Amino acid sequence: MVDILSLVPNASGVALAQWLEERGEPAYRARQILPRLWQRPVGSWDDATELPAALRRALAGALPLRRLSLSTRQVSQDGTEKFLWDLGDGEAVESVLIPEGKRRTLCISSQVGCALGCVFCATGRMGFRRNLSVAEIVCQVREVMLLDVALKPTNVVFMGMGEPLLNWEAVDGALTILNHADGVAIGARHITVSTVGILPSLAKLAQRPEQFRLALSLHAPTPELRHALMPIEKKYALPAVMEALARFRRRVTLEYVLIEGKNDALEQADQLAQLARPLGALVNLLPLHPGGAPDLSPSPRARMIAFERRLRRHGVEAVLRRSRGLDISAACGQLRVELEARRKVRHRLRRVAIGEDIDPGPPQYPGPDPREPRRAAGVQDFDRHARPGAPGPGHGERGAAPAVSAAGGERRGAGDQYPMSAFQKSTVSRGSGQRPSITRAMRRAATCFRIASRSWGTRAASERRSS
Ligand code: SAH
Ligand code: SF4
Repeated sequence: MVDILSLVPNASGVALAQWLEERGEPAYRARQILPRLWQRPVGSWDDATELPAALRRALAGALPLRRLSLSTRQVSQDGTEKFLWDLGDGEAVESVLIPEGKRRTLCISSQVGCALGCVFCATGRMGFRRNLSVAEIVCQVREVMLLDVALKPTNVVFMGMGEPLLNWEAVDGALTILNHADGVAIGARHITVSTVGILPSLAKLAQRPEQFRLALSLHAPTPELRHALMPIEKKYALPAVMEALARFRRRVTLEYVLIEGKNDALEQADQLAQLARPLGALVNLLPLHPGGAPDLSPSPRARMIAFERRLRRHGVEAVLRRSRGLDISAACGQLRVELEARRKVRHRLRRVAIGEDIDPGPPQYPGPDPREPRRAAGVQDFDRHARPGAPGPGHGERGAAPAVSAAGGERRGAGDQYPMSAFQKSTVSRGSGQRPSITRAMRRAATCFRIASRSWGTRAASERRSS
């Protein structure tokens, strides 16, 4: 079986032509079928109703269309949308869609987790799980188009989970499909690869003839500070990375997350200007997303503005970016990390509640376990909000926004070992303005557990009395 969505357009054309010929189908069918991969994508061959039913069935058997299933979709007050994709093997990655005027930028992931452990980054805290395949990378764009073709991104940035240049083989193919006229057809200058500077793959990216954009995650103007924030400095040191950028032949962007008291002093702006000016680089100043690093704080607004001005005074083009999607944890890796933490908390509470973690001693009540009906009815945890349509933890107090079922909301989330609660399955938090708090979720679950165990105790006592 061929994973047709992992093939670059020329190769998928060849594979399809060969398959059609073997079946004795006319060659013109290829012209009908190929646009259904990327240009006018279908979720399944069954939806390509312009094709005869027998051909659709045969396509489904021989060239199945890989899907990513949407386990969570959140919409921020500012219009930023975040998607968590279930990869079907217990792993999940996220993409973030950022609308701005006519532009819709989709930030996509290239790996599950990341091995590089930058101290401010939620994905870094997760560690590395695995690389994404070509199809898993590009299908993040495809799935968004399948949700609503009007959401088709105008721009794509590799700024989601993972380090793209540590998964070069797949990213290389994905860049081709994204850019190719028979692929997603997004202009090369609208596609940005963000990296900490993995030099061997950077050289390969530089050799590609297309004008893909490069963003270098710098975050510190000296090797010493960079080393403290980004362990990769040990392997690919700042001077070597700057040299590689000078050879890149295209204008690069330097990404600089402003962290209070770490890298936001005006002298550091001076040092940064010394690096940026010879390259003619644009400096993107990013407010730190606090969810990525609980122990670090974003620079105060006044300091960010002063930092930006200082760079400009040195003749460096600098842009202070707005933080987008703060209420939905839209920084790299945060949604997955948060959901995983909540799932672990719930799982542990569940195990405590059913007596796996603590020795409850002899049963306190005779007769059937009063919790059985709940479990038999598929109740997965002890969170009283865990019912369809109910606001999730952290959404209660301020009149939660209605929870809307995400497409694929009935599917299980990342990791069947931790089935998702109804909250996780159905969360599209529209402007609640609050991020679900793990601590609050824990407190609520513990309260529910206390109430539940009190009522079991009462029932057990009355059953003992009556027997
Ligand atoms: N690994 C690549 C691409 C993914 S990270 C890289 O590091 O460039 C994409 C961007 O998000 C990087 O510029 C990274 O520094 C930034 N980022 C990570 N954690 C962040 C946080 N907590 N707040 C703001 N930006 C963050
Ligand atoms: Fe990895 Fe990029 Fe996060 Fe660093 S910032 S840990 S390289 S994803």
